[in-house]
Amino acid sequence: MKKTLRFILGDQLNLNHSWFEEKNDNVIYFMAETQQETSYVKHHIQKVVAFFLSMRNFAEELKDDGHKVIYYQIDDNENQQDLPSNLNKIIKNHQVEHFEYLYPDEYRLDIKLKTFCNKLSISSQAYSTEHFYTEREDIEKFYEGKKEMTMEYFYRDMRKKHGIMMLDDKKPEGGEWNYDKSNRKKWTGKPPIPEAKTFDKDVEGVLKQLESMEVKTMGRIDEDKFPWPTSRKECLEVLDYFCKNLLIYFGDYEDALHTDQKFLFHSRLSFAMNSKMLSPREVIETTLDYYYEHQEEIDISQVEGFVRQILGWREFMRGIYWKEMPGYKSKNELENKNKLPDFYWTGETDMNCLKHAVNQSLDDAYAHHIQRLMILGNFALLTMTDPDEVDAWYLGVYIDAIEWVELTNTRGMSQFADGGIVATKPYVSSGSYINKMGNYCKSCKYSVSKKEGDNACPFNNLYWNFLYEKQDHFKNNQRMNMMMSMLKKMNKETLDNHITRSKEIINNPNDF
Ligand code: FAD
Ligand code: SF4
Repeated sequence: MKKTLRFILGDQLNLNHSWFEEKNDNVIYFMAETQQETSYVKHHIQKVVAFFLSMRNFAEELKDDGHKVIYYQIDDNENQQDLPSNLNKIIKNHQVEHFEYLYPDEYRLDIKLKTFCNKLSISSQAYSTEHFYTEREDIEKFYEGKKEMTMEYFYRDMRKKHGIMMLDDKKPEGGEWNYDKSNRKKWTGKPPIPEAKTFDKDVEGVLKQLESMEVKTMGRIDEDKFPWPTSRKECLEVLDYFCKNLLIYFGDYEDALHTDQKFLFHSRLSFAMNSKMLSPREVIETTLDYYYEHQEEIDISQVEGFVRQILGWREFMRGIYWKEMPGYKSKNELENKNKLPDFYWTGETDMNCLKHAVNQSLDDAYAHHIQRLMILGNFALLTMTDPDEVDAWYLGVYIDAIEWVELTNTRGMSQFADGGIVATKPYVSSGSYINKMGNYCKSCKYSVSKKEGDNACPFNNLYWNFLYEKQDHFKNNQRMNMMMSMLKKMNKETLDNHITRSKEIINNPNDF
C-alpha cells in the first residue's frame, strides 16, 4: 500500500467505519481542531467543547487500537488553522503518496476538499462515511417524476426497504404507518420525568485553550456539569438511558412545552448521531429491540414517532440538502429582510415562551423541535426576519447544528424560505397553539386570549399581519385556503389593529 494520508473531519467520528478494520503502518490518520471551523459562524461554547472533546477521545481510541494518528489541538504550534494548509504540510513532511477523505456532509467542505484534491500532485479518493441509511443522491432518484416531495412517502419507502416495523413486505406493524395524531399531549406534571442524563467531566483545560486562542463563542457553560456525551461509550449510555427511561412516553409528549421541563421525554441523541459517534441504524435497532422486549408497557405510537424522526425526517432533510444545494442557502421566497431581535442573543424579553426558549438555548445549546419551530422560528417568521440571520443563529446555537440538517430545518421547514420544498405550508401560529401545548402563557406578562391592547399576546397580532402581508405568496397554496378566507372575512378595524400593533412589535421587538 502506498504511503496514505486519511483525513477525518470533526463530525465523522464513526469508529465502526471499514477504514479501521485493518491496521497498516503506511496509513496515517489526521484530525485537526481549526479556527477555520470555529469561526465560519459564532458557535455555542458547549458545541465547540463537545466537538473538540469528542474528536480528542476518538483520536485516542484509534491510537489505542494501534492506528497511526496525527492530531492537532487548537493551540498546537504545528496547526496552520486551516484545512488545506494543514494537509499540504503533512503530505510534504511525511512523504505521503496518496490522499483519502470521507465525503463531508457540508457543501462548503465538499467543495474545499474537491478543490484541494484537484490541485494535488498525488492521487486521491473519497469514501462514504458509512453513517446514513441513504446516499446523497437517493432522494433525487426517489422523487423523480413526482409532483411533491412529501416526507411521508419517503418514510414509508424507507420502512419497506429496510424492513423496519413491517409485518410483511407491505403492511406496517400495528396497521398504521404514522401515529402522529397521538403525539400531541400537553404535559401537566405527570407522568414524572426522569432527571436528564449528564456527565461530570473536566472542561477547564479546553476552555483555557479556547480563551488563549481567542475563539469567539456564544451561549453559557456550567463548568461543573457538562451535559453532552463526548465518547462512543457515553453516547451508548445516553441511548440506553433513553430506551429505559424516556421511550415509554416519547411520542405522547413529543410536542409538549413546559416552563419547568427543558427536555421532557426527548432523547438528546442528536449530537451523538450528528457527530457520527452513533449511527442512526444502531439507534433505531437498539430502540426497537428494547421496545419488542417491553411491548406490554410501551405503546407502538411511542416508538413509531421516534423511528419516524430518524428514518424519515433526518434522512429526508439530508437528501433535500444535497438535492438543493448550493441554491438552497440563499432562498428567500417570502422576501423577508428584518433583523433578528437582539433578545435572541440575550434572552431578555417579556414574552415568556420566547424567554424560556432563548434562555434554554443559551444555557444548554438545546431546545426541542417544537420550541425551535413553533416559538423561536414562529416569531422570527412572523416578524419577517431575514432567513440569513435566522440561519446564522440556529447554526451557531445548537449542539447538533451542522448545515445539512440546520439549513433544511430552519430555512425550509421553519422559515418557508424555500417556498414549500420541505413544508407544504408555513409553520406559523397565534398564541393559542403555544398555550394549547404548554404552560408558558400562564406566567406571561401578555394575555394569550387578548387580541387588542397593550397586554395582548404579540403572536396574536403578528399572525394576521403576516397572512395579510404575504397573501400574494399564498394565493395558490390550497393548505392556506381556510386561513386566507378567514383573513378576507375579518372586519377592517380588527385587521387594522393587528397591522398597527404588528408594526410596533416588528420595529421594536426588544421592547416586548
Ligand atoms: P428527539 O426529539 O429525541 O428526536 C430523535 C432524533 O430524531 C433527533 O436526535 C434527530 O436526530 C432526529 N430528528 C428529529 N426531528 C428532526 C428533524 N426535523 N430533522 C432531522 N432530524 C430530526 N436537528 C439537528 O440535528 N440539527 C439542527 O441543526 C436542527 N435544527 C433545527 C432547526 C429548526 C428550526 C427545527 C424546527 C428543527 C431542527 N432540528 C435540528 C430538528 C430537531 O429539532 C432536533 O433534531 C431535535 O430537537 C434534537 O433533539 P433530540 O435529540 O432530543 O431529538
Ligand atoms: Fe408567548 Fe403569547 Fe403565551 Fe406570552 S401569551 S407565553 S407571548 S404565546
